[in-house]
Amino acid sequence: MVPMNAQPQHPSRHPLHRPILDWYAESARDLPWRRPEATPWAVMVSEFMLQQTPVVRVLPVFEAWMSTWPTPGALAAAPSGEAVRAWGRLGYPRRALRLHAAATAIVDRHDGEVPADREALLALPGVGDYTASAIASFAFGARHTVLDTNVRRVFARAVGGVEFPATSVTRAERERAEALLPDEDGEEEAATWAVAVMELGALVCTAANPRCEACPVSHLCAWNTAGRPAYDGPPRRGQAWAGTDRQVRGRLMAVLRDTEGSVTRARLDGVWPDDTQRNRALASLLEDGLVVETDEGRYSLPT
Ligand code: SF4
Repeated sequence: MVPMNAQPQHPSRHPLHRPILDWYAESARDLPWRRPEATPWAVMVSEFMLQQTPVVRVLPVFEAWMSTWPTPGALAAAPSGEAVRAWGRLGYPRRALRLHAAATAIVDRHDGEVPADREALLALPGVGDYTASAIASFAFGARHTVLDTNVRRVFARAVGGVEFPATSVTRAERERAEALLPDEDGEEEAATWAVAVMELGALVCTAANPRCEACPVSHLCAWNTAGRPAYDGPPRRGQAWAGTDRQVRGRLMAVLRDTEGSVTRARLDGVWPDDTQRNRALASLLEDGLVVETDEGRYSLPT
């Protein structure tokens, strides 16, 4: 793991670098996956859990997970259903199945060690472009562009002069982020840069209430110095929950997580009154492999 307070030896070349790196050295949260003793596996687990999920919800699940399965081999040896159960209420539980599958692949292909190489990471189940770069960068100090929601928002504002980035990552955005990466001879600084910008987006340059008065680059930020012009892009996606199939899936999963063994169909039918929506949610969970139907017509987590 890259030390949280790493002081780069190499001079930065973009005016944003120094203030953001200095701010990070002072203000970064002490998170278990950022500590010097954090293993690449800890970084990988945290990256799976942090997708679309706030740190405060991830922390207790992460701690329990790492004490139960401190290595990929330990997780791979457990039934996938136990991974789903331990995922608890983090949401998007397919991530638990994918993490379990990735642990199995790490045991099979890499002797149980998380690979450092970005291409080898990308070949693992559930590891996409962002996650591969994040693991290579945060666990191994490699120099990669890491474009998560927070980073995209900071760059859109500080460099692009607009309040929010495009709905999905554009080529121009990727090129801008690459141009902002610290020099090739400062690998460690590039890794710290990625996490520093991410932290600025999480703590200061937040989506709804950016605290520009507390921001280390307020005087350089294109959006702030232009008077924070109102957003006039396409409508932004909301995160509706109540009444959605996701909510029904969550209720069905909660019953199965809280049950050792299997449950009857009637038990599941009690969680949601709308038959059509409940049946659709259960069918999608079966299709995703998060729930299995037994020979007796009962339901359980995968075994
Ligand atoms: S000045 Fe405001 S908008 Fe610009 S990067 Fe800082 S917090 Fe974000």
